[in-house]
Amino acid sequence: ARARYVAANPASSARYTDALAVLPGGNTRTVLFHEPFPLGIVRGEGCVIWDADGHAYVDLLGEYTAGLFGHSDPVIRAAVVEALENGVTLSGHPMAEARFAAAVADRFPSMELLRFTNSGTEANLMALATATVATGRRRVLVFEGAYHGGVLSFPAGYDPKSGGVNVPHEWVVAEYNNAERARDAIRGAGDELAAVLVEPMLGSGGCIPADPDFLAVLRAETERAGAVLIFDEVMTSRLAPGGRQAALGIRPDLTTLGKYVGGGMSFGAFGGRRDLMARYDPRRPDALAHAGTFNNNVLTMSAGLAALTRVLTPAALAALNDRGERLRAELNRVFAGLPARATGLGSLLTVHFTDRPLRTGADVALGDPLRKELFFFDLLHRGFHLARRGMVALSLPVGDDECTRFVEAVADFVDERRHLIS
Ligand code: PMP
Repeated sequence: ARARYVAANPASSARYTDALAVLPGGNTRTVLFHEPFPLGIVRGEGCVIWDADGHAYVDLLGEYTAGLFGHSDPVIRAAVVEALENGVTLSGHPMAEARFAAAVADRFPSMELLRFTNSGTEANLMALATATVATGRRRVLVFEGAYHGGVLSFPAGYDPKSGGVNVPHEWVVAEYNNAERARDAIRGAGDELAAVLVEPMLGSGGCIPADPDFLAVLRAETERAGAVLIFDEVMTSRLAPGGRQAALGIRPDLTTLGKYVGGGMSFGAFGGRRDLMARYDPRRPDALAHAGTFNNNVLTMSAGLAALTRVLTPAALAALNDRGERLRAELNRVFAGLPARATGLGSLLTVHFTDRPLRTGADVALGDPLRKELFFFDLLHRGFHLARRGMVALSLPVGDDECTRFVEAVADFVDERRHLIS
């Protein structure tokens, strides 16, 4: 499958070779890299993307969830063009800023006050800083398999002592979906625990939903410990109007957002309890600083406002998530009897090649990488672009027709490769 890929993609290969001269590994975004070289993408329209060699693919990756609106939403496009025509570096508050913030707060009621950033990573860094300052404590509990940003990454087997490129915090790492151990870790950290940072579903870690009971224990125990509960809803906020927190009826102290909420432009936000966020009010003598040249950049403010208020209605979101539920069920019918399965919630899913239960980061890490690679290259050849790790994030323009054709392509893959994947 790899040899066929190399032969079919000379222009992508040449782009990659050029990139090697100035970007380490030809790359400025680790997640896009895969052997032997990643595709150069030249254009997108609706739910279709074209690569440098002229192949068209159904875009099922949806920019790792940031591409929820597809490639040519007319309402968002018009908002961006209008903003462009009025100038984009205005040295002041663009008029869309507070309206966009109000639209975010309206959708996510636990975010009583919020601030914008440029990425989900920054949003999480700011939420952690808020929690450590507010509590005067240092320790932060996170979970194995979680991804909270480029410098906040906790893959299975992560050792806080080795650090990697993670920002220095006093990390405590516990097993995901293990309520008992999380309770022990929180009680064990006692009055040194500043925060618990958790994804309501491991997103990059394989679309593994959190048990509602696990999250409920985190809520109760952080409250008892006087620590700040932070929900990283950078990916999961799309799973219901109001995010996963609304679907589960659990109110975190702080929430972080990113990805699609900025209408496809660079975006992040952190917000929550008024008493915590009011510390950023610059009129206060003890105000915390939160600066950032592009925090309120005109393109994001305009695109995000249009996206949240005019495109992503609760009905549109529900239809997207229903489509995802149907797609996952159909894929799992195709995989029946094989050591393969699609996990996830709503419009987010990941295909895993294993028959073990999948509840933790370590469970996911046991999946077979070679079968995943075969699946990726094979589906690419059949015209479907998904993440190398098997993730699918549906966007609004992906319709029933694309889903049906994808399920048929996966069924053909299973038929032709059954001997390799069983
Ligand atoms: N949190 C989660 C749950 C994410 O999935 C991501 C990005 N994949 C981030 C944070 C980081 O967001 P960004 O890439 O915008 O920095």
